[in-house]
Parts: sequence; structure tokens; C-alpha cells
Amino acid sequence: MRIYIEGLQDERFQRPLEHIAHLFFEESEVVFDEEETADLAIVLRYERDEASVSASGAIKDTDIKADYTKSLEPQLMEKEAFKQVKNTVSYVYLSMLQEHTGIVQTWGILTGVRPTKLLHKKLQSGMSKEAAHAELKRDYLIHEEKIELMQNIIDHQLKAVPDLYELDREVSIYIGIPFCPTKCAYCTFPAYAIRGQAGRVGSFLWGLHFEMQKIGEWLKQHDVKITTVYFGGGTPTSITAEEMDLLYEEMYRSFPDVKNIREVTVEAGRPDTITEEKLAVLKKWNIDRISINPQSYENETLKAIGRHHTVEETVEKYRLSRKHGMSNINMDLIIGLPGEGVKEFRNSLRETEKLMPESLTVHTLSFKRASEMTKNKHKYKVADREEIVKMMDDAVSWTKQHGYQPYYLYRQKNILGNLENIGYSLPGQESIYNIMIMEEKQTIIGIGCGAASKFVDPNTGKITHFANPKDPKTYNDRFEHYTEEKLRYLSELFGEDAKSGFQGA
Ligand code: SF4
Repeated sequence: MRIYIEGLQDERFQRPLEHIAHLFFEESEVVFDEEETADLAIVLRYERDEASVSASGAIKDTDIKADYTKSLEPQLMEKEAFKQVKNTVSYVYLSMLQEHTGIVQTWGILTGVRPTKLLHKKLQSGMSKEAAHAELKRDYLIHEEKIELMQNIIDHQLKAVPDLYELDREVSIYIGIPFCPTKCAYCTFPAYAIRGQAGRVGSFLWGLHFEMQKIGEWLKQHDVKITTVYFGGGTPTSITAEEMDLLYEEMYRSFPDVKNIREVTVEAGRPDTITEEKLAVLKKWNIDRISINPQSYENETLKAIGRHHTVEETVEKYRLSRKHGMSNINMDLIIGLPGEGVKEFRNSLRETEKLMPESLTVHTLSFKRASEMTKNKHKYKVADREEIVKMMDDAVSWTKQHGYQPYYLYRQKNILGNLENIGYSLPGQESIYNIMIMEEKQTIIGIGCGAASKFVDPNTGKITHFANPKDPKTYNDRFEHYTEEKLRYLSELFGEDAKSGFQGA
């Protein structure tokens, strides 16, 4: 679908208008010229003065029209003022597309990954819940049910982490281990099949230990505490039990005050990597929160997506983990895997009921550009929008019935049915790391392959991203450089100069 826009020439509108178009049409493009080749032509205009911004629009060759006026707070900075203009234009554009297609967008004009952040921001600024909800409805066209969901999630987050808004002077740590037994078809994570890579794994771990030592040393010197540690990847349990043992030993030796870190999680996503020996190592280092991810309880699906383990193995390894003292297990399910519909998803929920993990994350399949699945889209048959919505509804009612509460949420681009991924947990079993990564209230230091760091300025909230390389080869060659860069960012935010600047402010 090629959409021609008349009346706006500013390039800054292109991406937001395109993101909204994607909510309605699978393949879409927004252009500001070449009306002749377009499938849909839309006129959009706006006027702005000191006090307000007004937008109006019409879809050519139809009688669909819309307009909206929004008042502006006095003395807005240019960046914020443009954001308001963009939202007002988006409001008009979305309203017209809803009428044109008959598709209603319950998230309104919000296309971002972290919708709860917007509500957090309003509440943190002192706004009442009622006023914040009214603004989300009025300015963003978000439906009541989504606002309720966001508030529900925020309430649970603040129950799990009552000092969430005060944790900006602590950090969390993400450790990326980029190996898996085999590569899954939908995967875009840095994950390399581990077989035959022994040499590369060894050098990678060498770099990883180095990063842990340096970052830990810096945190100790500057008295910066760690809130949570998350081992992800890849599958961090793909390495040997001995390698795991040395890694956790390094964590205890290098990181400050490990005993008081609120949570340490190890992704053991692929059941085929879990062994008694590895579970004993986890237990030895007091790690009892792991993730075992069934994704589906259909062997045929697992085979089709390249996971190379069976449903029986998932259940067996889950029970083994329980036996070895893992008391906080997360499981992931994916809605909309190839060949799966309501029947298969209900089966997954029934099987989950037999296990009752402490938390359950329900993802909706997203076609990420780099995955094998997207490259060969024609080979994979996936459910339609309506069926996806039904499965999502099933997940919502099943979790409610079984005592799970939603505690984090994120959306993805190209997600089937424009739905969301939701993390549910039994009361008190929320993953604090997941809350930290979603709400961006503190710095997360990424160590290892493909690990993304987010430096959140404690004074301004400004976020700076920094990514370690994704492939082990580049990482192995340059880990010292990436460590230094991170230490530099840390010094800017938490070093002596930053501290004295803060005290004097
Ligand atoms: S187990 Fe996870 S990280 Fe590994 S290939 Fe599959 S989806 Fe990717």
C-alpha cells in the first residue's frame, strides 16, 4: 500500500505516518510526491500558534474527513512543541484510516515499544491517575481497556519495586552469551550454534571475564550498587557446567555486594541445554530464577521453527529444575507460531496449567526483518488477525483465572495483529530486571556479545544507547575497547564530576 500525503513536506512526519500506516496495512509506504503511483491519497494540514495546534485532513475521492485541535502549554521547547504537532496530525490521520479500513486501533496513535512509560511519566510528574487517563484517551485515542491494562501493570510494578522512581543511582547488568544449541527460525538475537565452536567460546569467555572485572571494579570504586543481573543471549546454559561455575564465581568476586543484589536470572531458554550438573552449579551460586521456554507444546511446531527439542523434554527439564531448587521459573509462550491457531494455543495453556511456573511471558509472533522466517515468509503459514486476537483473549482470561497478574508489557513493530507481549507473574514473583528494562528508570550495563547498554542520566532522564558487537569474532578482537567506552559513559553519569555537579545543582 502506497500512501501519498499532500500538504506536509517536513520529513520528520514520514516515519510516524509510516508507523501508523503499518498498523493498518501489512506492507505500506508513505510518500510526499508521485501521487499517480499511490493507492491512497490523503490531504493533511496543520496550523500552529502560541496557544494551540490544529490539524485537518481528508482522504481524496472519499467523503472521509477529520480535524482536531489541541492546546499547547506555554513556553514549550521546540522539540516538545513539534511532538505535540506530530501527535495532533497523527490523531487526524489515524481517525481517517480507522474509518477507511473499519479497523479500530485500541492503542490509538501510540506506536512505541513501551506504552507504560508514558503513563509512568505522567504519574511521576504528580498528575492524578484520573487526569493522566483522561489525557491518554483524549490526546492519544487509547481505549479504556488498554489504559486499564497499563495502570494495572504499573500498580504491580510499584508493588514489586516500591522505590522504582528512586533507583536511578543504581544500575542493572545484562550479560549476553551468544550461543545456542541450534538457531530458531524466528530468532534475531545474537545466537550462534555452539557445536564446533569450542575455540571461539573460550576466547569469548575470556573477554567476558575481563569486562566483568573492569566494570565491577569501577562500580566498587564509585560506590554504585547493582539492582539486578540478567544472563541472557543466546542461551547462557549452552556453555559447560564448568564454564558456568567460573562465570558465577567471577560475578561474586568482581561485582559489588552480590549478596544484596535483588535478583539474578539465568535464561535457560532451551530445555536441551539443562543438565543436573548445570542446575547444581546454579544452586551453588544461589541462583534460583531461571527461564525455560516451551514456546509451544506441539512437537511439530517446535520442529518447524528449528528448536530441536521436544515437548516432553521441556516438561522433564522443568521438573528436574524444580527438583534442584529452582524456585522462580519463567516460561515463554508465543502466540501465532506457524501452523498454530486457537486449538494449539489452548493446548499450550492446558499444559502450562500442569506446571504453574512463577511467571509466564506471552509473546505474539513478530516478523523481524533479519529472521529466517521473514526471509522465507511464504513457507510459513500463520494465523490471521482475528484468530490472533482470540488467542490473546484466551491468554488474558487464562492468566486471570490462574492467579497471574500482568506486570510488564512491550509492543513490537510488525507484530501480528498489532498486539503486545505481556509478562505475567504470580503475586510477588515479578522479574525486577524486566521492569527495569521496560521502564528505563535506571542504567543497564550490557556486557558480552550483542549486549546493549542503556545509560540513563540520573539528573535528566536522557538515555544514551551503546551496543557491544553481535558476533563473537569482533567481540573477541575488541572487547577492551568496548569496556573502556562503557567506563567512559559511566564516569560521565556517576563519576566524581557528575556527583559534584548534582550536589551543586
Ligand atoms: S533459543 Fe532463543 S536465542 Fe537461541 S536461537 Fe532460539 S530464539 Fe534465538
